[in-house]
Order: sequence, then structure tokens, then C-alpha cells
Amino acid sequence: MTTTLTRAGSVHSWDLSTGVDGPGTRFVVFTSGCPLRCLYCQNPDTWHMRDGKRVSVDDVVAEMSRYRRFIEVAGGGLTVSGGEPLLQPAFVGDLLHRAKALGLHTALDTSGYLGGRATDGLLADTDLVLLDIKSWDPGRYRRLTGVDRTPTLAFARRLSELGKAMWVRFVLVPGLTDDPDDVEGIASFVSTLSTVERVDVLPFHKLGAAKYTALGLPFPLAHVPAPDADLVRRVREQFARHHLPTT
Ligand code: SF4
Repeated sequence: MTTTLTRAGSVHSWDLSTGVDGPGTRFVVFTSGCPLRCLYCQNPDTWHMRDGKRVSVDDVVAEMSRYRRFIEVAGGGLTVSGGEPLLQPAFVGDLLHRAKALGLHTALDTSGYLGGRATDGLLADTDLVLLDIKSWDPGRYRRLTGVDRTPTLAFARRLSELGKAMWVRFVLVPGLTDDPDDVEGIASFVSTLSTVERVDVLPFHKLGAAKYTALGLPFPLAHVPAPDADLVRRVREQFARHHLPTT
């Protein structure tokens, strides 16, 4: 008898979602571990790889296969999210490859900070990249995330040159990411990319605040309100003026 060993990775959880993590109904795998510390992060329980559950690619594929017909009928697929999936590029690459082999649409949800770790092979198995561009101003980006924005912009350009479809995601936080010049910088940059299908302006919310409490951590934006409808409209219009479809 022969035994096939598949790669293992650190995974926080998986779930089904519709509408936000790619087209159709998605089987979403949340990997553990992230090098960023976004002030508005709603998933601080995914920050450390050591806190995840060690599972094999076979384990994930077996679970995903239970929903395969449902996902196919709903025009969906697999989305690998996090945490930051590209912290575990070999595991994630195998996962995407197996999903493609099953004929499923695949999406990768990433900050782009570790885009250099995504091989061309991994990207060949990825139909869509959900790319977060969190701020344009380099200092603000660093204050918001703890890291430099340069790798994300380089990854965005590479995806564009490869012809890889992207949904750009931007979290709108009053007083933090709503500066008109900052939004304009992102919109101008994104409009130079050739494969962006849409820009999702995601209003900041505090649904993850309880996770900070459970972890004994302060939620840095506890005092910040959600953006009002006028602000969300203004920012969406800024992107729309650059002929970018927005949601
Ligand atoms: S990149 Fe995502 S998971 Fe990582 S800290 Fe930022 S919001 Fe949280």
C-alpha cells in the first residue's frame, strides 16, 4: 500500500460566504499568521501561525468537496484568505492547484505585502486576486499596518502585467483613510492597472471588537465611528471618476 503525503499548513477556520470573497458562493479558507497589524483588523485571532490548526491539503480538499456541487451551481469557488495566505505560499499554492484540478474558480485574498512569495505557478492557479490597498501615503500606510506599502504596489503592477484579474479592496475609516488626496492617490494608481474588475469600498465596522476583548488586547479604533453614507458616497465617487466600477 502506498501513502500519499500532502503538505500541511496552519489554518484558523473555513466557512461558506456569498458576495464578498469573490463571485458566487465561496468555500473560504482562513489561514493563520499575518505580518501586518492593521489598526482596523477584525481578525486578530488569525495573527499568529502557532494559534492555527495544522491541517493537510487533503483535509481541506475533503471538506471543500462536500460543498463542491453546491459551489459549482452557485457560480462560486475557493477563496484563500487569512491572516495572510502568502505567509504559507507552498501550502496555499497546493490548495489552489487542487481546487483548479477540480474545476473550481479560485481566489486569493491578500494584502500583497508578501506578493514576492507568490510564484508564477501559484498565480497561474489563481483566477482572481482580492488585493487590499489600505492607504496611499507611505507614512499613513505604515502607521495603519506596521509595514511598508511598496511590496503591495509592486505586486499590483505584476498582477496587471500578468493579466491577472483583481478586485481592489479599500477599508474606509473616518479620520484615518478618508483623506481626499489619499483616496485620490489610490484611485489614480489603480486606474493605471489593466486588470482591475472592481473596487470594493468597505465601510469600517467594529464587529471584531469582541475578539480583542477575548484576547485581552485593546481595540485601537474602539472610539472611531463607522463612516456615514455621505462619506462612503464621496469616496465611491472618487473611484468612479477614474472609471473604476465600485461597490
Ligand atoms: S492584513 Fe488582514 S489579517 Fe492582517 S492585520 Fe491587516 S486586516 Fe488583519
